[in-house]
Amino acid sequence: MMYTKDLEEIKNTIGYDVNVGLSEKKVKEKLEKYGENIIKEKKKESIIVKFIKQFNDFMIIILIIASIVSALITKFQGSNDYIDSIIIIVIVVLNAIMGLFQEEKAEKSIEALKKMTMPMAKVRRDGKIKIVESKNIVPGDIIILETGSYVPADARLILTSNLKIEESSLTGEAASVLKNENVILNKNTSLGDMVNMVFSNTIVVNGHGEAIVTATGMNTKVGQIAGMINSNVSPKTPIQKKLEEVSKILGVSCLVICLLIFIIGIFKKIPVIQMFMTSVGLAVAAIPEGLPAVVTIMLSIGVTKMAKKNSIVRKLPAVETLGSASVICSDKTGTLTKNEMEVVKVYNLVRDTKLNDYTLKIASMCTDCDIEEEKNGKLKVLGEPTEIAIVNSALKIGIDKRKIDIINKRVKDIPFDSNRKMMSTIHENDNGFLVITKGAPDVLLKKCIKYYDGDKEKVLLNEEINKIIDENKKMAKKALRVLAVAYKKLNSINNKSNNELEDNLIFVGLIGMIDPPREGVKEAISICKKAGIKTVMITGDHIDTAKAIAENLGILNKGELAITGEELDKIDEDNFRKHIMDYSVFARVTPEHKVRIVKAFRSTKKVVAMTGDGVNDSPALKIADIGIAMGKNGTDVAKNAADMVLADDNFVTIAQAVKEGRNIYDNIKKAIHFLIATNIGEIVTIFFGLLLGMESPLLALQLLWINLVTDSFPAIALGLGKTDKEIMNKKPRDDEKGLFSDGLWSKIFFEGFMIGTLTLLAFSFGQKMYGLEVGRTIAFLSLGILELVHSFNIKSEKSLFKTGILDNIYLVGAFILGTFMQIIVVLIPNIADVFGMTNLNKTQWIVVFTVSMMPILIMEIQKKFEELKFGKTIYRKNVEISNG
Ligand code: ATP
Repeated sequence: MMYTKDLEEIKNTIGYDVNVGLSEKKVKEKLEKYGENIIKEKKKESIIVKFIKQFNDFMIIILIIASIVSALITKFQGSNDYIDSIIIIVIVVLNAIMGLFQEEKAEKSIEALKKMTMPMAKVRRDGKIKIVESKNIVPGDIIILETGSYVPADARLILTSNLKIEESSLTGEAASVLKNENVILNKNTSLGDMVNMVFSNTIVVNGHGEAIVTATGMNTKVGQIAGMINSNVSPKTPIQKKLEEVSKILGVSCLVICLLIFIIGIFKKIPVIQMFMTSVGLAVAAIPEGLPAVVTIMLSIGVTKMAKKNSIVRKLPAVETLGSASVICSDKTGTLTKNEMEVVKVYNLVRDTKLNDYTLKIASMCTDCDIEEEKNGKLKVLGEPTEIAIVNSALKIGIDKRKIDIINKRVKDIPFDSNRKMMSTIHENDNGFLVITKGAPDVLLKKCIKYYDGDKEKVLLNEEINKIIDENKKMAKKALRVLAVAYKKLNSINNKSNNELEDNLIFVGLIGMIDPPREGVKEAISICKKAGIKTVMITGDHIDTAKAIAENLGILNKGELAITGEELDKIDEDNFRKHIMDYSVFARVTPEHKVRIVKAFRSTKKVVAMTGDGVNDSPALKIADIGIAMGKNGTDVAKNAADMVLADDNFVTIAQAVKEGRNIYDNIKKAIHFLIATNIGEIVTIFFGLLLGMESPLLALQLLWINLVTDSFPAIALGLGKTDKEIMNKKPRDDEKGLFSDGLWSKIFFEGFMIGTLTLLAFSFGQKMYGLEVGRTIAFLSLGILELVHSFNIKSEKSLFKTGILDNIYLVGAFILGTFMQIIVVLIPNIADVFGMTNLNKTQWIVVFTVSMMPILIMEIQKKFEELKFGKTIYRKNVEISNG
C-alpha cells in the first residue's frame, strides 16, 4: 500500500536511509524469508514422462505390438523361440534411452543459455551502487532505473526524472506512462494509474529514477497473473523446418517401400510373421525420425561453443542465418573502437587555457558520472565512457565535480539520447540557475546565440561560427569525437519547457577525444572481406570522425561512399536501394535511419546482421536477419529484441560467430547427408535383395541393431567436426538455395545405392558359398562397418589421404565403439545365436573387411572427379571476390 503514502512518511518509517539502501546482511536475511525474485515457470516433465514420450511414434508402437504378437504366436505354436521379440523390445528401449539422453542434453544447453542471459539490475546497498542478478533483489532494496532497462520488481518510486515506463505487458496500454514520485494515490487506484509505482517486467523507455522494492517474485503483479510469462521457446530454424518436411516425405516413402517389401516377401512364401517383422523393423531403422533431434543437439552444442567465445545466441535460427550473413552493419563506438575515450584537445574561440579549464569544469558538471575513492586513495570515475573522459580530464587539472556539485545543486536534467545528440543539466546556486548543455557541435551550435570569451558574453557571428565548424572538422578528421559545451543563466526555471531551457545558449568550447580501434578489428574486417562479407559502419558520430576511423580499419575503401543521416533523408527510396551496396559509412544517423538501412540492404537479398544497444534500436534489431545487441553496454530492451548478444561488445566476436555459424551449418549438413545416405543403403539392401529373388539379407533384429550402432553416434560426431580452414575463404552461402542444393540429393542417393549394392554383393557371396546364416552374418557386419567407414568420407569434401582420419577424434571414437558393438554380437556365440548369426572363418572376415573398405576407394575416385570438375569453379569464385 506504499502508493497511498506520502514520500516523506515512507522514508521516515522504513528504518534505513534510502541514500544508503539495505545492508548485504539484511538482503541475505530477506532473501531467505521472501525467496528469489523469480517467476516460477510451469513444472517440468518428469524423466519418466519424457521416457514414455519417446515411444510416442507410430512405427515404434507398431513394432512393439508386432513383437508382442509374434511372441504370442510362437508361444501359441508351442515353440519357445520368442527371445528375438524380447531383444527387439530391448533395442527399442535402448533407442528410447538414447533419445532421452539427446533430449536432456539439448535441454541442458538451452537452460545454460538462459542462465547466460540472466537479467541484471542496479541497486543501492551499503551506500554503494551495485549491479546484481535480478533474482537476488528483495523487498526494501533501492533499485535504480535507467532508460532501456527492465523494472526488476514492483516498487514505490522515490525519485524520478522524466521517467516514462512502458507497461503494456501488464495493462495492455501501448502508450508509455510518465511517472511521478510525489503523487499520493487512493486505495482503489487501478494499475494503469499508479504513477508513483513501477512494476516488474515493464520497460523504462525514458529518463531515470529510483524506487523502493515492495514485492518480488510471485508476489509481484506479473507473478500473480499466471501463465503470462512465455517460456522462451526458441522458434524452429530453417534447417529444422526443412528437415521436418523431408523427414515426412522420407517416412512415407519408407512406409510404401516397406509395404512393398512385405508383399514381395509374402509372394516369395517367407513366413508372414518374419516378413512382417522385417518390414516393420526396416521401417523403424530407416525412417529418419531422429533427424530433427540430432540437428537440435548439434545446434545447441554449437550455441554452447559460441557462448564460450562471447557470442550468446538467444534464438536458435540465428546460428544458421549467421553462416549466410553477407552484410554486417556495426556500430562504431565500443564495437569497432574501444570506447575508452580520452580527452586530447580542448578548444575555445579566444585560445585561452583558463577558458579551456572552464569548459572542462562545466562539462564535467553536465555528466551522470559518480566519483568513488578506491582503497589506495585513487579516484575512480563511474559512468558512460564519453563522460568518464571529461570528468577524468577535469580531475587532472584539479577540478573535482563532487565539490562543485555541492554549491551548484543539480535540480533537473534533460537526458542524452542518440536522436537529440545532446543533454542538459540544470543547477541551482546562490545566483540563480545555471543550465549546462553539451552535445554534438553541429546540433548545439544551432542553439547558441552568444559565446563566452572568459570574461564577457559576446554575440556569435558567422565568422565565429565558421571558426568553430572548421575546428570541429579538423578534430574530426583526426578521428576525434567532438563535443561542444554551452551554458545559460536563469533566474527561474518554473514553467519552462525543455525546449526553452535549451535555447539561446552561450557557447564555451569544444572537447575532442580519441577512441582507438579495438585490437583485432582490422584483421577481422579483412577476413570478412575475403569471406565475401561487407562491413558497414553506422554511427551517431560526425562524418569526418567516422570516415577517418573507417579508412583506417579498411571499411571505407576506394569507390565506397560515406553519407550522413541528413543527406540520407533527401535520397528517394528507389535510388537509395539501387546504390545501397556502394555505401560503407553512415554517420550522424538516428536509430530510425538504421531501420531504413537494414531494409535497403535486405531488398538486395543480402542477409544482414545489425548491431544495436539503445532502446530505439530494437526495431532495427528485429528487422535485421540477425539482430546483435551489446552485452556490456546494451540496454535490456535491445538485448531482448536481438537474436544474439555479444558478451564483449566486440566486432571481432561477430566475425568469429559468422565463422562458427558457417561451420555449424556445414557440419549439420554432413550429419544429415550421412544419416539419409546410410538409411537409403539399408532400404536398398532389403528391397533389391528381395526383388532380385534372394532371401531377406537381414532380419529385423539385425537391422535394428545396425541402426542403433551406426545412426546417432557418427552423425553427432560429424556435427562436432573442427572448422574447415578454408571456410572463411568462401562466399556466403546463398540462402535462397536450400539445404539440399548443389547436388546433395544425387550424392545421397549415389552413396545409398553404393552401400546397398556392396552389402548385397557381400550377402549373396556369403550365402552362395557358405549358406544363409553366414551370408546374413557377413551382410550384418559389412553393412554396419561400411556405414561407419563411410562416415569418414563425409567428414570432408577433400581426399581422406589429405585430411587423415584423426582430425575428428569424435568420429574415430564413434567408429571404434560402433565396430566393437557390431563384432561383439557375432563373437559371443549365445548372442550370435539370438541374432540368427554365426562366427566367421578367416576368409569370411577378409570378405567383410574388403567390402567395408570399398566406400573409401569409390568415394576417393568420386572426389577426384569432383575436384577436376570443380577446381575451375573455385578458381573463378576467387577471382570474383578479389575483383570486389
Ligand atoms: P555509435 O552508434 O557508433 O555507438 P556514437 O556512440 O558515437 O555512435 P551517439 O552515442 O549517438 O553515437 O553519439 C552521437 C553524438 O552525440 C556524438 O558524436 C557526440 O557528439 C554526442 N554525444 C555522445 N555522448 C554524449 C553525451 N554523453 N553527452 C552529450 N553529447 C554526447
